[in-house]
Amino acid sequence: MSTDHQESQAIAALQEQLAREVALREQAEQSCEQAEAALQELRDQFQAVLDAVPGGVSWINSDLQYLGINSRLASTYNLNPKDFIGRPIGFLSNSPGFTEFVREFVSSDEQGASRELDMIIEDNRRTYLVMAQKYLLGQSAVFVGIDITERKQAEEKLFHEAFYDKLTGLPNRALYMERLDRALEHAKRRENYFFAVIFLDFDDFKLVNDSLGHMVGDLLLAAIARRLESAIRSVDTVARLGGDEFVILLDDIEGLKDATHIAERIQRSLTVPFMLNEQEIFTAVSIGIALNRSDYERPVDLLRDADTAMYRAKVQGRNRYEVFDRTMHSEVMQRLELETDLHRSLDQEDFLLNYQPIVHLGSGKISGFEALVRWQRPQRGFTIPADFIPCAEETGLIVRLDRWVLREACFQMKEWQQKFLDHAPLTMNVNLSSRQFTQPDLVDYIGQVLKETQLEPQYLKLEITESAIMENVESVATILKDLRTLGIQMSIDDFGTGYSSLSYLHRLPLNTLKVDRSFVTQIDEGNENLEIVRAIITLAHSLSMDVVAEGIETANQLMHFRGLQCEYAQGHLFAAAADKDTIENIIMQNPQW
Ligand code: C2E
Ligand code: MG
Ligand code: MG
Repeated sequence: MSTDHQESQAIAALQEQLAREVALREQAEQSCEQAEAALQELRDQFQAVLDAVPGGVSWINSDLQYLGINSRLASTYNLNPKDFIGRPIGFLSNSPGFTEFVREFVSSDEQGASRELDMIIEDNRRTYLVMAQKYLLGQSAVFVGIDITERKQAEEKLFHEAFYDKLTGLPNRALYMERLDRALEHAKRRENYFFAVIFLDFDDFKLVNDSLGHMVGDLLLAAIARRLESAIRSVDTVARLGGDEFVILLDDIEGLKDATHIAERIQRSLTVPFMLNEQEIFTAVSIGIALNRSDYERPVDLLRDADTAMYRAKVQGRNRYEVFDRTMHSEVMQRLELETDLHRSLDQEDFLLNYQPIVHLGSGKISGFEALVRWQRPQRGFTIPADFIPCAEETGLIVRLDRWVLREACFQMKEWQQKFLDHAPLTMNVNLSSRQFTQPDLVDYIGQVLKETQLEPQYLKLEITESAIMENVESVATILKDLRTLGIQMSIDDFGTGYSSLSYLHRLPLNTLKVDRSFVTQIDEGNENLEIVRAIITLAHSLSMDVVAEGIETANQLMHFRGLQCEYAQGHLFAAAADKDTIENIIMQNPQW
């Protein structure tokens, strides 16, 4: 074999091998490209999946450089995910301490752990509140961050709605009670720690609403809130309980003096009128103060006692403050008992009527009676109106009571008219509380009672006190006119005690004026009083009303009233109020009556 031949064989073999290797490399390159493409596809898919996550996702290496980020998170920075890769995590954030936060977050936990944190990422437009969760994967960490800004805002809004009063922006009862609870807990742990509850109820606030409208009332409440805030220190809490009731928590005070001092300051601040809608509005407030004592267990007890003291301030004449003491508590308990008993007695009909004759001075005959209610109070017995009518009025129970009285009295009068046929028809006077005039069905009810008892309307005379009329002249006038249309008579009771505006009197359909007993007793004392009574009687007569003198006890009083042309009298000189049987005996034994 020639050398040439051998050489060419070797070259061919080399060429073959080269070709094989080229082919192999081509093959390898091809599969590498394929793998690369497959990897890219996988990456794209991965990114797409992350982009679809409803939150920000990023992952970083142990040097705190970005390995990746989803579009949602990148776009909050107005960037693409590519812009982040390889950059340090803090390169964009101007949130202070962000890098330290992430470093701590990455290093602190064991493998696979995750934790939740609120963090703030700021970009140029807004601040995000993010809940971040971390997952450790080998050398890198994946963060999943969810934007909870809106959720947090909604939570805060809910919190605000639950604990703040919309109208004034002040804390509401719930928040106040929580703070009071905290103060109480604090007091249990620390000696010589004092705090006080101040309860405020504005006097006659209803008048503002009624006369100036609810809009102005609301504005006034908000303005009051600001004024109260400026009267206290920043550590104190002023809250609105509702309506025109506010409470203050005076925290960490030296003693009672600090509390009364604040009460005085508030009262002084209210001497300056509010300017609302170009109107000057004056307000006054009744204030109750309760200082914490060691025996208080529950926040509501303190609030109750401050309320009780406030109530006392109202009773004592309003526009003042009172400090709670224990005797007030027993008074409140008694009053509560009275209310409960009244309720029960109305159901059981523990009431009865006494009747006091009203005498016609011209003829000396009984013209009628005034029905006066008496209460057989369970376990306590006979109770006079002065001891329960005020409570019945405050609680509104008087409405039921008066209705019972009216029906009972009308039945009685019908019965007597039938029994004493010889006697000229008698009239029954029935007292009506001012509360009745807030009842829309009052006129219907009275009409119905007359129908039921078959008493003719002219024999019923309703007594309305002067003060009840003055409480709400307009609506009372309308109702009185309706009652007059039914044929019922009307009488103004306790005249001279209610500061009535005389200009209204002639507009009311009144038949009778009853001169209050206080004028009658003063008659004995001198000339000046006589002149006042003369003026009242002249006024009544000029308005075509007849006059009843109430509470005539002496012959001297009677003589004077006769002299003043007073038509009727009522009083112990003739007869005290008595029960049905006694009255019947009186009529039968005194035919001249
Ligand atoms: P009033 O309507 O002015 O009734 C007159 C009161 O004077 C009655 O007191 C009567 O007993 C008393 N009185 C009469 N003559 C004399 C007298 O010569 N001397 C003295 N010292 N007192 C005399 P009473 O029965 O205690 O009633 C007090 C008040 O309670 C009544 O004053 C009335 O305002 C109210 N009242 C009584 N019954 C009712 C009722 O059924 N409904 C309402 N809403 N109020 C009532
Ligand atoms: Mg009366
Ligand atoms: Mg009277």
